[in-house]
Amino acid sequence: METKQFKAESKRLLDMMIHSIYTHKEIFLRELISNASDAIDKLYFKSLTDDKVGLNKDDFAIWISADKDSRTLKITDNGIGMTAEELENNLGTIANSGSFKFKNENQLDGDSQIIGQFGVGFYSAFMVAKKVTVISKAYGSDTAYQWESEGVDGYTITEADKENIGTEIILELLDDTDDEKYGEFLDTYRIKGLISKYSDYIRFPIKMEVTHSRPLEQSEEDKEAGKAPEYEDYIEIETLNSMIPLWKKSKSELKEDDYNHFYTEKFMDYSKPLKYSHIINEGMPSYNALLYIPANAPYDFYTKEYEKGLQLYSNGVLIMDKCSDLLPDYFSFVKGLVDSDDLSLNISREMLQHDRQLKVIARSIEKTVSNELKKMLKNEREKYEEFWKAFGLQLKYGIYSDYGMNKDKLQDLLLFTSSNGKLVTLDEYVTAMREEQKYIYYATGDSVARIEQLPQTELVKDNGFEILYLTDNVDEFAIKTLMNYKEKEFRNVSADDLGIDNTEKQEEVKAKEEENADMLKDMAEALDGKANKVILSKRLKSHPVCLTSEGEITLEMEKVLNAMPGEQKIKAQRVLEINPEHEIFNKLKSIAESGDKDKLAKYANLLYTQALLIEGMEIENPVEFSNLICELM
Ligand code: ADP
Repeated sequence: METKQFKAESKRLLDMMIHSIYTHKEIFLRELISNASDAIDKLYFKSLTDDKVGLNKDDFAIWISADKDSRTLKITDNGIGMTAEELENNLGTIANSGSFKFKNENQLDGDSQIIGQFGVGFYSAFMVAKKVTVISKAYGSDTAYQWESEGVDGYTITEADKENIGTEIILELLDDTDDEKYGEFLDTYRIKGLISKYSDYIRFPIKMEVTHSRPLEQSEEDKEAGKAPEYEDYIEIETLNSMIPLWKKSKSELKEDDYNHFYTEKFMDYSKPLKYSHIINEGMPSYNALLYIPANAPYDFYTKEYEKGLQLYSNGVLIMDKCSDLLPDYFSFVKGLVDSDDLSLNISREMLQHDRQLKVIARSIEKTVSNELKKMLKNEREKYEEFWKAFGLQLKYGIYSDYGMNKDKLQDLLLFTSSNGKLVTLDEYVTAMREEQKYIYYATGDSVARIEQLPQTELVKDNGFEILYLTDNVDEFAIKTLMNYKEKEFRNVSADDLGIDNTEKQEEVKAKEEENADMLKDMAEALDGKANKVILSKRLKSHPVCLTSEGEITLEMEKVLNAMPGEQKIKAQRVLEINPEHEIFNKLKSIAESGDKDKLAKYANLLYTQALLIEGMEIENPVEFSNLICELM
């Protein structure tokens, strides 16, 4: 018989299981039962449309049996079973275990995190067993197969005898040590406890033959003599789980831990969720839902591969794994499930889209999520900021997409980094606005640090006005979609009109501009289309130059739009602003007066490139820039 080797990663996990000092080894039972239940789900679903299955709903069950003499624990199901190939693929390699994402650290600490936080599946059996045997017969197959392994050395697959479709898993428990009493897992009492703790909600009965004893009938004589009765053992088949799924239980029965544990298990997350919500709706349509807001964005969340959706059950039977119609795009981060008795079991994906009940449910789910977020923002600010870091971007996309159709619903959920160093809501910003402040100011850039140094912010800051720092690509598009908030318009700090009353300065600058009109024109010409205009700045205080834009497209938008593939390149109408208070201005004037147009042109190019650098934009010709500096030095 050929012994096959486990794939490398599987071997590592297996090794980790075998040497685990994890204190919750008991979870192995939960894992095996949950696999059994999944397997029955699959066959049950088939049985609804396929008479050949030959089983009724009540026939499906998971059986547990323990034998103290041979120290074996058996878990049997009449689910879909596995072919030889499936035994090989599913149990020989971890790649097929959906619940396991390998973490790199292999310290014990990391181990218990992996094991504890969510299911590691089948291999957890090796935490308690020295030998694991799986005998399985797949639906539609005549031959049964046996998979057997004593751990890292490998496994064998051979033909086996088994009459019924399904899977039997036999664990030969490890020997007891001073610290670990594996034999415990053979005690009825312990098994019952584990099932009620971890597997109570499993939809199929978990049955076990339980031995009880009862007193034998006594003769009158013995009774009178006060003799103790004799006892006899008898066997009863007990169902150990209530079979009520978590979401169908009443809220008062459940603790936060129950909800969180269910989440990490079901949705394969390391971390417990930030928030959960349990909806029990008895109206029309009647449905139950469990909704979760994860603490972290899944690794593929902001990619095309990410699939939003909630699990959809009809009367406890899973009919769709990711029903996307239940969630709007801007709440695509929500995980959870919906179970309604008012939905047809055989409903197709296309029919679902038009299902009225489903639309009603979707609307109420959206409302619940929105309320939960608002509550979190109001009462648990820190938690909300954590949420924002993970999923804020998605809400901003939500503002911008669908032509701003949902902006009213979402605008109060937004947070922005403000120049006061905190995250603020628009409402907080507007409430803190000073009486003379006309606009909601914002500045854009790659990072907060970069924006803080932007010369354009000087005038607004000097007036003591708060500025929203926009660092995400979508930000400015979202702001443009909002247009205003509570009747206050948004204004980019580099806009021409900042609504700040500095008439005196403006007139002064205007006069200087007229005086130096020729020089500014010559400079603009020297820039040869790179900037459309050179003007004297009304906003700069200490910096020599800055780059702003005229018209609809701002520099930031130009950056974002041009980063998109395919599109034609777009260019903002650039304006080079020169600070008339800065020494450089006098220098420029003296060059202009001397009539050295060539030198003026060089200065114009140098200043323009400097402005590009400050903006964090690409320099068109670094070599030329470098040569110019040397030349002028
Ligand atoms: P997961 O259940 O997370 O996918 P496991 O390691 O527990 O990972 O199981 C791997 C795969 O083996 C399962 O996805 C399933 O296809 C198969 N499997 C495990 N147990 C059973 C069973 N009792 N009946 C049928 N298939 C099973």
